[in-house]
Amino acid sequence: MARAQGVKKLVVAVIDGMKPAALQSAIASGGAPTLARLVRDGYATGECISSFPSLTPVATSTITTGSGPDAHGVPSMHWYNRAEERYVDYGISFPSARRSGVISVLKDLIYRINQEHLSSKTPTFFESLEEAGVRAACTTYMIYRGPHEHEFVGSGMGGRLASVTGMSRSGWGPSELIYGDIFDSQNTPCRSSFGVPGRRDQHASCAALELIANDAYDFLLLSLPDNDNYSHRMGPEAQPTSIAHADTQIQKVIDAYGGYRAFMEDHAMIVLSDHSHSTVREGLDLLGMLRADDWGILQPRQKPRKAKDVQLAVSPAARFGAVYLLEPAHRARELPLVVSDLRKHDEIEHVLWRENGEAAVASGHDELRFAPGDTYTDARGRGWDAEGDLAVLGLHAADGLLVSDHYPDALTRAWQALRTERLGDVLVTPRLGREFFDWGGVAHVGGGTHGSLHTDDSAAQLIVTGTGESREHQPAWSIADVHELVLEHFNVNSPNATPVQ
Ligand SMILES: [Zn+2]
Repeated sequence: MARAQGVKKLVVAVIDGMKPAALQSAIASGGAPTLARLVRDGYATGECISSFPSLTPVATSTITTGSGPDAHGVPSMHWYNRAEERYVDYGISFPSARRSGVISVLKDLIYRINQEHLSSKTPTFFESLEEAGVRAACTTYMIYRGPHEHEFVGSGMGGRLASVTGMSRSGWGPSELIYGDIFDSQNTPCRSSFGVPGRRDQHASCAALELIANDAYDFLLLSLPDNDNYSHRMGPEAQPTSIAHADTQIQKVIDAYGGYRAFMEDHAMIVLSDHSHSTVREGLDLLGMLRADDWGILQPRQKPRKAKDVQLAVSPAARFGAVYLLEPAHRARELPLVVSDLRKHDEIEHVLWRENGEAAVASGHDELRFAPGDTYTDARGRGWDAEGDLAVLGLHAADGLLVSDHYPDALTRAWQALRTERLGDVLVTPRLGREFFDWGGVAHVGGGTHGSLHTDDSAAQLIVTGTGESREHQPAWSIADVHELVLEHFNVNSPNATPVQ
């Protein structure tokens, strides 16, 4: 047992969408004293790079499994499931969920993402830790998959609703799972109020206090999602307010253990965000753009066999979009047409597709092609061959090293997205300041959002305190590294070391 060997407990707190600059502001104004202390006592970077798309389901799967979407299989917030001939929607917005079918969205979000969409070949850190005898616990987090069956408890309003809609199924998680009002292995008095934004962080800390009181964990994933919703509504500049709220919840957990000194004597702590946020000034109608070029698009809940004059399925998801060609026999003819139709719009930043075993990325007239190779090395030490205009991804080469200021870790992230079977044939991102309207017509104009390769969406925060061996001088961080940090801390071997090729 890890505890018997004197390894400290570990808490990983994920503050959804926390922008590093906003954390700096919160710390400077005295609004985040606990996070400030953790930074001071450990090491931190504001350049821990998210997945691509930089969207929560994808990033959360990357954090828990240490792999990219090409391996873990969770492709986006909204995607087209070719096998089932339907859109999968993890709840991108309520109007979108109504078009997808609310019950179907809840099943995708709570059950199927863990049991069906997340690949069984990429174990989560919950699974690897439990297998090694480490007691793992999780508050409401999108990815919770583990070896223990948890019965549906159906407490509170959310639980009752789930029950009447036929969703009262078991879930498989770590030893301890307190998830909304759905699963509650500790039989806590905590209620999630149907997961109302602004109340979720409080529910997580309430759950953590119960776990502490019962000494029920060695590893705890403390999920603090309220910041993301706040930033979507109020914009990334307003994040210091929601970060202060998250800071208070973390402090509550630390206080419950007898204060900072007592807590850190027995714990290591990792705090991170899964992605960042950029400001939205304008909504962009991806569906309308394609329809204007005479493409027929499959509607939510429409079956392709019954649809007339439909060639595409399209999944706009914040600052990312996936376009699927529905008829494989027409792919060779239709793919270049979709690409050229999207490239002609000034508001589009990147159009990405696969061709002859290579990745292609275009921005307007400019184009770059690349594949794993040995001409260049990127910041994380991976080798690439590239041909065309490096500026498309803001890349500049110095002594064989490829670096991009605006699109960090772009080659690996784009490569992984293009190799993700469940993502479309053509991927597309809008220029900074724009967001695609979702199927419910929602964009966060005046607020914040994320999804693209751009650093403003992608550069997340990482704070590591008390894990023993310091990796302070690691040159380039990815949110995927957190999986390894967790397993390393408990001396458990990583099963998911997947090379990029
Ligand atoms: Zn978000």
